[in-house]
Amino acid sequence: SAFSDLGLAEWAVQTCKELGMRKPTPVQTHCIPKILAGRDVLGIAQTGSGKTAAFALPILNRLAEDPYGVFALVITPTRELAFQLAEQFRALGSCLHLRCSVVVGGMDMITQAKALVSRPHVVVATPGRVKVLLEENPDIPKVFQRTKFLVLDEADRVLDVGFEEELRVIFQCLPKNRQTLLFSATMTSNLQTLLELSANKAYFYEA
Ligand code: AMP
Repeated sequence: SAFSDLGLAEWAVQTCKELGMRKPTPVQTHCIPKILAGRDVLGIAQTGSGKTAAFALPILNRLAEDPYGVFALVITPTRELAFQLAEQFRALGSCLHLRCSVVVGGMDMITQAKALVSRPHVVVATPGRVKVLLEENPDIPKVFQRTKFLVLDEADRVLDVGFEEELRVIFQCLPKNRQTLLFSATMTSNLQTLLELSANKAYFYEA
């Protein structure tokens, strides 16, 4: 298949071409149409499979139709992954004037709070720092009130390193009618539990 067969806007197809992505990878072919259709998705896919673009492209496609407030919150286990994810979002969203903020530990919290209050389109965060901001700054929960997408990237690791309390706080601040996208290298019992809690029936992809 081709990027133009997946339901993406012309600008997105063009951006993929410009970035040297000649055809969609399997995780992209399967997940992009489902995400565009509004489904929750659990994708079992390794790093290098193209999983980031599999969720970033449909999120950006929807964002271009309806830009309002923080559109997507992407949770990832490490700072390094957060910066890499933000870089891919910026590259794929270059023609949307995308505003993307990284919220991770070890950086100034006041600057991060200011960035969040300015309502970026995409927030890429590690669980610990976003929890602290949500709890300690009364302006922050409002920022996430209309979030359309929650992504857990490397979801097996996020759940594994004992971020339950952080995730509970984060989930509480997001609207129930959001779309949830879980991407993980392995299927774990924690993921199964999380999936069963999901209100929508999720599409399950495994390579
Ligand atoms: P990921 O699995 O998201 O870590 O992506 C691995 C790398 O593959 C990234 O550097 C992407 O830019 C690249 N990539 C993603 N999708 C494609 C594609 N369809 N064709 C070629 N490269 C891609």
